Amino acid sequence: MVFDLHRFLQGEKPPANVPFTADSSRRDFGGVQVPSPAECNFSAQLAAEGAALALAVKAVAEGVCARCLGPVRRCFDFTCEYLVRPRELADPDFELPLDENGCLDVEELAYQELYLAIPRVLLCSPDCPGLCAVCGQRKDACTCAPTTDAAPADARLNVLKKLLGQDPKEVH
Ligand SMILES: [Zn+2]
Ligand SMILES: [Zn+2]
Repeated sequence: MVFDLHRFLQGEKPPANVPFTADSSRRDFGGVQVPSPAECNFSAQLAAEGAALALAVKAVAEGVCARCLGPVRRCFDFTCEYLVRPRELADPDFELPLDENGCLDVEELAYQELYLAIPRVLLCSPDCPGLCAVCGQRKDACTCAPTTDAAPADARLNVLKKLLGQDPKEVH
């Protein structure tokens, strides 16, 4: 969906309030997927200083827990608000995805905001104990004697260690 912000700021378009879906199933979220289209709503109103925009995004992200590698499903439901002043349309550093005609790519904006909202490291629960280095089960499910290492093992590092057949400290 594209919104002509240039014409809107010139008073040539009525206020908008548009529900839409944004399919990000093929986009990169750093190891996390958003398999179903995000449910979004875009609105635009003229304010004294410019265009008052709001973008609501509702999506479900799926990935694996960084400690135990178990599946993680996380719901995101947030609204971003922007105030765009007319002179900002010509600013090359303007942060919203605009084309050269001042049209806003609203779907791209939904993807960008979702990308920022989804943490790079997902945990199945904030206190996930991680995997036991001896038996490979979750530490709270295994019966091994407690080990002396204080830091919780990062499951991804263990996978890397197995793949490379060396200590993760030597990996640069
Ligand atoms: Zn976990
Ligand atoms: Zn164990």
